[in-house]
Amino acid sequence: MPCHLIRDYTHWRAKIDRFAILAILFFFASGCFGPESAENEKIRRRNCKGEPIYRAHGEYSAAISPPAHTPRGPYPWERSAPRITRDFFRCKGDPSHPPIPNPADPATPISDCEGSTRHGLPILRGKETVYPILIDLLNFVQEQTGKKVIVTCGHRCPKHNTYSDPSKENLVSKHQIGAEVDFYVQGLEEKPLEVVQILLDYYKGALFQRYEKKDVRVSTPPWMNQEIFIQLFQAHEGRDGDNSHPYPYISIQVRSDPDTKERVVYEWKKAHLGYPRG
Ligand SMILES: [Zn+2]
Repeated sequence: MPCHLIRDYTHWRAKIDRFAILAILFFFASGCFGPESAENEKIRRRNCKGEPIYRAHGEYSAAISPPAHTPRGPYPWERSAPRITRDFFRCKGDPSHPPIPNPADPATPISDCEGSTRHGLPILRGKETVYPILIDLLNFVQEQTGKKVIVTCGHRCPKHNTYSDPSKENLVSKHQIGAEVDFYVQGLEEKPLEVVQILLDYYKGALFQRYEKKDVRVSTPPWMNQEIFIQLFQAHEGRDGDNSHPYPYISIQVRSDPDTKERVVYEWKKAHLGYPRG
């Protein structure tokens, strides 16, 4: 390459390098001088000398209340019983249960369902659950007693319903539509009336009537209001596949949905088709 061309190249190369350095510096510097928010601008103008701001002790523009001790609630592992959720209501059917004799047809024994891993809870208003009032009532009992509620029977799919109790009257059980629960309270097994009183207290004095008709399977007249129907099964009453324990137990049926005010009644379609199956 001729000598003068090399000189020109070196000259222009130096100019380009200088331009590049200036461009990079400008790029970084531009970040420091960006548009300022109106609030920052106001603060900068108030303190235009940029002096540090000191605050005298106790000088506050807003009143601050003195610190108060807030006792913390119990951690989940410190509770006497875990909160009741819809999972406590899942069908207690189990395919390992042996078939039972069929009173209507001795040639075809009754077998249990595939279990809650193969089917879900009823679908209510688009959600897989049971009637929420049942969950609320059981949690209320746990809060008031500090004791554990044992759910012996929540949702029953029709197959497990027949397996637990093949009697005709049980065909229309509300367990099948997620509107009934059977339970007892650990530590209060022999004091079910105390538990019934807590259920009545939940309604804060709202009127309950006693159901005096004899078309029920309990000797104690049930309690009922607009929303629920409470039955007390004594130790010799209501023994079925799910309630084979030796204690009295309480059954709550939903009569009307407190959220929608609709009557809750057994329907074949709801019971047999209204829950997801795997
Ligand atoms: Zn089932």
